[in-house]
Amino acid sequence: MEYQKILNQIEAELTAKQSTGQVASYIPELSKISSKKLGVHLYCINSGHYNFGDSTERFSIQSISKVFALTKAMSLLDDELFERVDVEPSGDPFNSLVQLEYEQGIPRNPFINAGALVISDILISLLDNPKEDFLRFIQSIAHNDSIKINNEVYESEKKYSHRNAALLNLMKSFRNIKNDIEVVLDFYIFQCAIEMSCEELSIAFMIYANQGKTLSDGHQVLAPRKIKRINAIMQTCGFYDEAGEFSFRVGLPGKSGVGGGIAAIHPGQYTVTVWSPPLNPKGNSELGMYALERLTTLTGLSIF
Ligand code: GLN
Repeated sequence: MEYQKILNQIEAELTAKQSTGQVASYIPELSKISSKKLGVHLYCINSGHYNFGDSTERFSIQSISKVFALTKAMSLLDDELFERVDVEPSGDPFNSLVQLEYEQGIPRNPFINAGALVISDILISLLDNPKEDFLRFIQSIAHNDSIKINNEVYESEKKYSHRNAALLNLMKSFRNIKNDIEVVLDFYIFQCAIEMSCEELSIAFMIYANQGKTLSDGHQVLAPRKIKRINAIMQTCGFYDEAGEFSFRVGLPGKSGVGGGIAAIHPGQYTVTVWSPPLNPKGNSELGMYALERLTTLTGLSIF
């Protein structure tokens, strides 16, 4: 397949397209990013790397980090993990509080903020040096020791984290948060402030497309049966209240972040990451979704 040619066509289509999305501004530091940034990196198991645009520039991975955090937690725990967080789509915005009240502090899934905060709490309890160990984990699956957080984004989110603090307080009242709220919030904001490029995310996401193994050295990071579950949760919950729409249009498991990134995978075939900061009203990259829809259409390679 002529992947580079297909990417070039997608680039031309995206450049001609007028985005109506808005760059995230509720974390003030994120609003400083140019809305024009656009990059794609496709990493195929059989034929290697293809890309265009700003694919090597690092951006704030934000909620894409929730996939890595779940992976780390699942490497340390078995099914007992899912007593504290469910695996159902929420149908609500990523930072919504409503379901938590009538579902007794058990978040719908690990990819909405409430669920990710429970995963942060679990990692804090289980890791010796939570921040360092978690960053080290991402560096190892991305094969890149220079990956780090953006301090300005970290400080910026710290000033505006009232909603996440509310989620933590509510869950603590139901005894589903064990550590101090401030400590959990700090770790969560740290993980969201990690910066990676499309290329680095595509390399790190290869474990989800390759049965839990890195492609370059074949290291088994997580058992295939656990990878299958993470992919299922990405498919059903990776895009909050737009998970159905993403499945419908793109047809791949994936995860978005408010930094404008989307990482997606086709098991046994490829990983792909898109970065375009303007977000649609549901908080997902508008052009990113369009680019992935065109990729699965033009290659004929979706999981359905
Ligand atoms: N740090 C962001 C928040 O908690 C992440 C949200 C996202 O990327 N959807 O609001």
